[in-house]
Order: sequence, then C-alpha cells, then structure tokens
Amino acid sequence: MYNILIAKYGEIGVKGKNRYLFENKLIKNIKNILSPLGDFKVYKEYGRIYVDLEDYDYEEVVEEVRKVFGIVGVCPAVRGEKDYNKLKEIALLVLNEKIEQGYKTFKVDSRRGDKNFELTSQQMSLDIGGYLVSQVKDKIAVDVKNPEVKISCELRENHVLVYADTIKGYGGLPLGTNGRALSLLSGGIDSPVASWMVAKRGMDLECVHFHSYPFTNEKSQEKVRDLVKILSKYCGKIRLHKVNIIEIQKAIASKCKDEEMTIISRRFMMRIAEEIANKRYCNALVTGESIGQVASQTIEGLTCTNSSVSIPVFRPLIAMDKTEIVDIAQKIGTFETSIEPEQDCCTVFAPTKPLTKPKLDRIEKSEQNLDIEKLIQDAINNMEVEELEFD
Ligand code: ATP
Ligand code: MG
Repeated sequence: MYNILIAKYGEIGVKGKNRYLFENKLIKNIKNILSPLGDFKVYKEYGRIYVDLEDYDYEEVVEEVRKVFGIVGVCPAVRGEKDYNKLKEIALLVLNEKIEQGYKTFKVDSRRGDKNFELTSQQMSLDIGGYLVSQVKDKIAVDVKNPEVKISCELRENHVLVYADTIKGYGGLPLGTNGRALSLLSGGIDSPVASWMVAKRGMDLECVHFHSYPFTNEKSQEKVRDLVKILSKYCGKIRLHKVNIIEIQKAIASKCKDEEMTIISRRFMMRIAEEIANKRYCNALVTGESIGQVASQTIEGLTCTNSSVSIPVFRPLIAMDKTEIVDIAQKIGTFETSIEPEQDCCTVFAPTKPLTKPKLDRIEKSEQNLDIEKLIQDAINNMEVEELEFD
C-alpha cells in the first residue's frame, strides 16, 4: 500500500542559503544510507523530502532513513493521482489498516496545497471524516480532541497524499555540516556512544584506537573494527587509525612511578591523537569520559589529560550516568559488541593503585624522564590506517 516516505527534518532552522545546502546534504545522506538496499529516488518538494518506495518493503526502508542525522521523523504514505475522490479512497485504505491494528478513535487532518480547490482544509477534514465514518460504521469512532490516530490527508498541486504514522528519527544535524572530529575509540561502551553523539551534531568522524599488540591480541582490534563498522551505518565510511603504544607503555613503566601509568599513557594518547587530527584536518578530539566514572576521570585526572593538548576536546558524556550511556549504546546497536570481553591496552600495564588525584606539575616532572617527541613520532610512523564501512 505505502508507496512513498516523507522524511521530516526539524532543526534545520537555518535560513536562506544554508537551509538549501543542508537539505541537499540530507538528500545525499539518505541516498547513501539506502544504497545497499537499492537505487532510490530521493527529492525535495515544497520544503519536504520524499523517498519513492517503488516495490521495496517500506518498513526496511524506514528503518534506514530514520537513522540519518537531521531526520526527526519518517511517515510512510500513500500517494495517488490528483483526484479528490481518490484521496478519500486512499484515506479509507489507511484507516482500515489502523482499525486492523486495533485503534479505536481517529481524526482527519487535512491540508489543501492547491489553493484553487473548492473546499478549505477544514471543510475537507469534515467531508473526508464523514465519508470514512459512513464506510467503517462503528469499527472506529471520531475523536477530534484526543484521537489515537490521525489520518493526514493532503491535496497537493500534482497529487494526493495520505499518512498516519510518524516513526521517530534521531534528530541532530546532517553529517558533514559541522566539520570533522577525531574520536578516541577504545573497545568499551562509552567511546562509541560519544562518537555517535558528536556525529549526530553534523560532524564527520574519524577514529583512532590505541593497542599494545602483541600484549593485546588481534581479536581486541577486531572488536574495535566491528564497532567502527556499526558507527559507519550512521556516519558513512570511517577512517580508523590504529596506533601501537606498547613501546610508550614500556618506557613509562621503566621511567615513571607505577601509579602514574594510566594518566601518563592517557596523555600520550591525547598528544598522538592531536597530531593525527592536525594532519587530517580534524577540528576536535572526542572522548568517552564522564566525571568520576573511573580513577582517571576524577576532575584532577581530567585536568591532567586535558592539558596535554591544545586542540578542543569534546566529551559529550561528561555529565551522563552509566545507565544513560548504556541506554544509548543499546539504541544505536553498539552495546552487544562493546561488552564482548576483550583485552584492552590500559589493562596490560594497569597500576595496582592508580592515582585518583594526580597533580599536573608532578606528572609533567615525571614525564621529563621520557623522550616524548620521539616516542610519539615512532608510534605515529608505525600507525596503520584503514577505511571501514558497514557490511
Ligand atoms: P570506554 O567505555 O570508552 O572504553 P572507559 O569508561 O573505559 O571508556 P577510560 O578507560 O578511562 O574509560 O577511557 C576514557 C576515554 O579514553 C575513552 O572513552 C576513550 O575515548 C579513550 N580511550 C581509552 N582507551 C583507549 C584506547 N585503547 N584507544 C583509544 N581511545 C581510548
Ligand atoms: Mg575503556
């Protein structure tokens, strides 16, 4: 029955030329996300974006389109040739489906796009509502104040359109409209969520992962690749930088205090990420840190991590509870992969008792025992890069 989708976008409250750019970006991103399913016609008409469904299963297509950042809702609709009686017929089809689904009350909401049509929008609603009631008898009742379902009927310039449901999207802004971020991606629960949140605000995403191969195994890298692939469902192709920091960790272990291991390696991760970001024209780093979650994320720990770089660091989870983060991870589909038990570079050299209140001046002093520049350059020279896509 459904032969078209209406993709509604909300926050593109940007006016003028920007709006036009944003809409075009949205269309491109919708086409991209649908490309594994087929070649869809996606286009703009009267300030709306439509997707022609052809013979595709609409539920499958909706499920994809709602993932596109910037889309607030998707309505499966039936479009027919421009004819008022046709509009009533289609409305009846849609209403009958709603009756089968168990709805008990409805109202008709009409729109007259063609101003030459003899009935006003309100008259249309009354007329179509009356027709529907006469056809379905007492299977469903009209309730204009608080209906369980709204049958939206539109008489446009060139066609008629009926829809009832809106499947919610994630909102946000179209990808690629707000620069580019480099996300520090571990195999944990938090950093994939943080990455997703920043991408949702329109930033293109690249990722960097630090490992301690051969102390951490290949499977732990595989897990991170899997996470990147899930993210790429929302973000398009993602470039993943894999950096081995085993030599850095060994150097810290031999030259610094055991308890400083975590915080100093975190500072190295940040510095390396900053270099990659600058090379890749990324405007910011992203981490999955949240105040007080673990020893290295006390305010003192965050201060020490933060001051190792000058590039902006975005921490979208900073004030979120673990349960809230887990909710999002489940919703976006990263949770199951994140909880697979794999090794992590941070646990390889984990101090028995990490500093919870590191002092920046002491940490900096301790780092003077290390050849920071050389350690960083060696790690970057051995970096591996790959582009990943959802499969
Ligand atoms: P996550 O669930 O994201 O692993 P976490 O709660 O385990 O976070 P930490 O281990 O303190 O917290 O890491 C804080 C942040 O530092 C991570 O969210 C991530 O952005 C970054 N990070 C930690 N380990 C790595 C790693 N091996 N590679 C890349 N980034 C990392
Ligand atoms: Mg972690």
